[in-house]
Amino acid sequence: MNSIETQVGDNYHRVRERIATAAKRAGRNSNEIMLVAVTKYAELDWVRALLSLGINELGENRPQQLAARAKELPTRDVRWHLIGHLQRNKVKLVLPLVTMIHSVDSIRLAEEIDGTGKKLDLRPRVLVEVNLSGEGAKHGFDRTALAEVWQTLVGLEQLQIEGLMTMAAYSDNPEDARQTFTALRELRDQLRRVSPAEISLPHLSMGMTGDFEIAIEEGATLVRIGSALWQGLEHATPANR
Ligand SMILES: *Cc1c(COP(=O)(O)O)cnc(C)c1O
Repeated sequence: MNSIETQVGDNYHRVRERIATAAKRAGRNSNEIMLVAVTKYAELDWVRALLSLGINELGENRPQQLAARAKELPTRDVRWHLIGHLQRNKVKLVLPLVTMIHSVDSIRLAEEIDGTGKKLDLRPRVLVEVNLSGEGAKHGFDRTALAEVWQTLVGLEQLQIEGLMTMAAYSDNPEDARQTFTALRELRDQLRRVSPAEISLPHLSMGMTGDFEIAIEEGATLVRIGSALWQGLEHATPANR
């Protein structure tokens, strides 16, 4: 094992332990919590180190970078999650590459994904992004807007709506995120009651490096973690390349 693999492996195991501890505190089974490794700050070598450890659920927030990396990495091993804003004109690019889109933030985008899914004979798995933290998040439905379009969303035949995603406002204190995460879980429970039976909304994508333990206590099934995995690694610069 080279030193990058060692460092990435140590970081990963430390994060997994923190996930297990948080799950235990909440009386949950940590097997039901998936870690999506966010690679947007990572060098390709670091990502390869993760893959060599058998970790293959990867997240990118930019469609173009996701597509570029999907080309460079052995795609059959990787399950890509798109976690950032998606413009409608990029749907065709990413749809064949991703296992899940976490960031459906408008009805027009949902319709585009549905239509493209039909053409490509795919049933895209998606989460609906909700903005519950006010100015903190740039994208996502607000609650009222989502309630108004929900029946239209669940009526889109090709889409598989598997749950909700949110981002908490940035804060130094992880506890500040708790009310956002509680609100997402409660909103999911409400939406489930007004949805067709096959829409069970099993997933809550919430929690990042600064607040994932709180998110797990509040029911997260997908945590999106970047920085904590890349601790102690140095970007190549002209001096150390
Ligand atoms: C970057 C990013 C993350 C991961 O952030 P870290 O704080 O580095 O763990 C999670 N979710 C989204 C949407 C992101 O853009």
